[in-house]
Amino acid sequence: MAYPHAVAAPQLADANHDALIIIGDDFSSLADASLSQAISAQQAVDARIGKQVTLLVIDSKRVILAPTGPLNRDYDDVRRYFDAAKQGVLEAKASGSTQPAILLANVNQDSRYKHALEVAYLGACQALWQPLEAREFHGQAIEPISQISLVGADEAMSKALNAIAAGQYAARDLCGTEPERMAPPRFADYCVELFAGSKVSVEVISDINTIDKDYPMMSTVARASYAVERHHPRVVKLEYVPEGDVERTLMFVGKGLVYDTGGADLKVGGFMAGMSRDKGGAASVAGFMKSVADFAPKGVKVIAYLAVVRNSIGSDCFVPDEIITSREGVRVRIGNTDAEGRLAMGDLLSEMKDRALNEVNPELFTVATLTGHAARAMGPYSAYVENGPARAAKISRQIADLGDLWADGAEVSRSRREDYDFIRPRTLADDVLSSNNAASAVTARGHQFPMAFLAIVGGLDKHGTESAQPLPYVHMDIAGSGVEGGDWQHGKPTAATVSSLFARYCL
Ligand SMILES: [Zn+2]
Repeated sequence: MAYPHAVAAPQLADANHDALIIIGDDFSSLADASLSQAISAQQAVDARIGKQVTLLVIDSKRVILAPTGPLNRDYDDVRRYFDAAKQGVLEAKASGSTQPAILLANVNQDSRYKHALEVAYLGACQALWQPLEAREFHGQAIEPISQISLVGADEAMSKALNAIAAGQYAARDLCGTEPERMAPPRFADYCVELFAGSKVSVEVISDINTIDKDYPMMSTVARASYAVERHHPRVVKLEYVPEGDVERTLMFVGKGLVYDTGGADLKVGGFMAGMSRDKGGAASVAGFMKSVADFAPKGVKVIAYLAVVRNSIGSDCFVPDEIITSREGVRVRIGNTDAEGRLAMGDLLSEMKDRALNEVNPELFTVATLTGHAARAMGPYSAYVENGPARAAKISRQIADLGDLWADGAEVSRSRREDYDFIRPRTLADDVLSSNNAASAVTARGHQFPMAFLAIVGGLDKHGTESAQPLPYVHMDIAGSGVEGGDWQHGKPTAATVSSLFARYCL
């Protein structure tokens, strides 16, 4: 783990640093008057100061100014600090710094910036992460920054930030790695190592017969991969039990498609590149579990099931029109083999639902890079689609509101009757259709209707608001938010959902 460790520095004088990164929209009146004076003197001869990242040498020390740009407009948010920190820390790294400090200049008092320092640190971590294969080839020298002092932070803040950063780092590794290095068995191995000796237990299901029997829809997706042993699927089960009483139980199912060729509905026309990142949902869930393992929050129990599988193409691949009977006993008509994530997760969601009936205040989630429609509809934000009990409890709203404060933005979508109509059975031979046969991005309600499918195959349609035992369920589609710039082949994974879930349930 080579994420830069967050170090609390109540005052600037406490920070042990070799570069000072100052982030803000105005550098003219810093608390340290001599620093302000030196910056003003530079500004008189360099018009770039305050407009772009600049490195000054003041008293023989590196000072990097990272301007946020305006913060006061209705549409500005804390990502101004996130983005400025990314640029600032890359400048520090390029200059040879290994332990910079971050100081916010005149923090804007608007409540949307109340976590600006935390977010600046997380932005720096995002910028500094290098892919696992790159570290394995070049060595740790490509991540030279070992710690970042945060001026104004206390120990409680740095403890939380280190937990989040460790989780996000793992999530980026799991999401951002090529399909052989992170084939299902190796994904499982990474998880075993990640949680060794921690407060999170790990169980890996490797046996194909068990997967065929217990998770028939996941087995269907995996079928074409059975010809190649190193591509065999895995179910990874993670569990955290807090000390003391459990007040709430979080139950996650993550989509871990280590590679998605589309299957028989092959991704053609250049749409396959980047599909090694189709495991971003499982990666984010595992990352959140790592944050939980390190932070050990009280009162909250967390269980996660990860469907780690490869959607290959071959003579035994599944095809549209097949009818598969799911774990829940639902006869699923395959509409399109490229809509495989909902199949991979559905049986695990059903199993999780059964467990939820005996847990304290359960909340269920699926986290997935599920649809191009989520990216088309929401741009770089996650899309949350929830059932009645979750909507009544404002579960998505609360996570999304915290996401705004933690640079982990999301939009909340409604689940509607059209979503259920869309996947209704057309014959008596089946109970539900998995998907239409067009790209989700050109399908109306393309990111909402898959939640209806998941609710049906997960058995959650029988646990709505009016049922004897309502179960809140939120489907989180991170297809738009999972990688930087929507660049699925080259963009850095963002670890979407990790910081807002942590803010909501652990702080
Ligand atoms: Zn697919």
